[in-house]
Amino acid sequence: MTLNVQDIRRDFPILNRKVNGKPLIYFDNAATSQTPQQVIDVIVDYYSNYNANIHRGVHSLSQEATDAYEQARLKIQTHFNAKHSHEIIFTAGTTHGINLVANGFSSLLKKGDEVLVSALEHHSNIVPWQMLCERTGATLKVIPMNQNGELILSEFDSLLNENTKLVFVNHISNALGTINPIEYIIEKAHSAGAAVLVDGAQSCPHLKPDVQQLDVDFYVCSAHKICGPTGVGMLYGKEEWLKKLPPYQGGGEMIAEVSFEKTTYANLPHKFEAGTPNVCGGIAFGAALDYMNTIGFDNIAKYENTLLDYATEQLLQVDGLKIYGTAKEKTSVISFNVANIHPYDIGTILDKMGIAVRTGHHCAQPIMDFYQIPGTIRASFMFYNTKEEIDTFITALKKAVMMLS
Ligand code: PMP
Repeated sequence: MTLNVQDIRRDFPILNRKVNGKPLIYFDNAATSQTPQQVIDVIVDYYSNYNANIHRGVHSLSQEATDAYEQARLKIQTHFNAKHSHEIIFTAGTTHGINLVANGFSSLLKKGDEVLVSALEHHSNIVPWQMLCERTGATLKVIPMNQNGELILSEFDSLLNENTKLVFVNHISNALGTINPIEYIIEKAHSAGAAVLVDGAQSCPHLKPDVQQLDVDFYVCSAHKICGPTGVGMLYGKEEWLKKLPPYQGGGEMIAEVSFEKTTYANLPHKFEAGTPNVCGGIAFGAALDYMNTIGFDNIAKYENTLLDYATEQLLQVDGLKIYGTAKEKTSVISFNVANIHPYDIGTILDKMGIAVRTGHHCAQPIMDFYQIPGTIRASFMFYNTKEEIDTFITALKKAVMMLS
């Protein structure tokens, strides 16, 4: 099957709207993706027909909601090829998943232990580990990057030693689009005895990770990057790790028995799912994966690569434009600046022309510090974007640059 972008665009009602009187061109997909009607319908159906609390209810609505929620967990398990469904923990998103793991490691790390973070991380995959190091006395070390925005693997090799307990790296950088060689990183980290957490927030919309094949210890993502709703995501953890980690939050749902003397915890996955979850969000997350799998990740990757190549070629024609992040392995994210014009000024003018891009540090200040810039303009594409939209964007960008020069 090839991808029919005009058919696909009809699935996304938001793509019909105008912004500032101009047809919306949405190039802020790395921040959040848009939602197809198929997923919106699932959300409406949930609240119209079977909204209820799950797992405890004896009545029909509760059972229907529980079944749909657990069905979604199975879809996620199948999508990521986890060995067990209880290795899939519903979270509020990538940030929540990382904090859950970082909190769990508080009781497993001690002074003298080392943890490695990549120079390419989102703040979500930096700050929780810094907090962990403050709590435990472990040391945070950084795998450096080169000018192309690629990790320097020889430096990674030499940072690894018998004290390294954890390595965390994103699969794809949200600021530059670099696809990191996580297979290599996981293999090397394991041979040094360290566990690996991969932040999949940016990879999940573009490729289909196989957690067993990767042999990754933890993998996290957010549904809102994958055509699903905000406020829900998943943590995959190997069973052995999830059994070892203490619960993150206490409350209802995560217990076996409670008394004032002692509480025992529920089995996986409920041990990590305290309180009423985002039931509708979880079900819609499953529907979003169904939607994307119907299009097919091979088709998505192939099409998005053509958009990336085309946009890169066109952008490089703009006088004074510099692209940050020129890795060989890259996804459909382009970060750039034009001459000395502040990214925010360009972003504001583009918005007036109906074009949504991101400007700023993209929650990755260390990357901006590396390039000694305050921020960039970031255009990020999904399978529902078109070459025609890129043409309009380039014309608008040239106009904005002329106005600001
Ligand atoms: N990591 C990366 C690489 C991201 O792109 C994002 C979202 N911008 C996050 C983590 C955080 O995701 P969320 O805000 O959904 O928790």
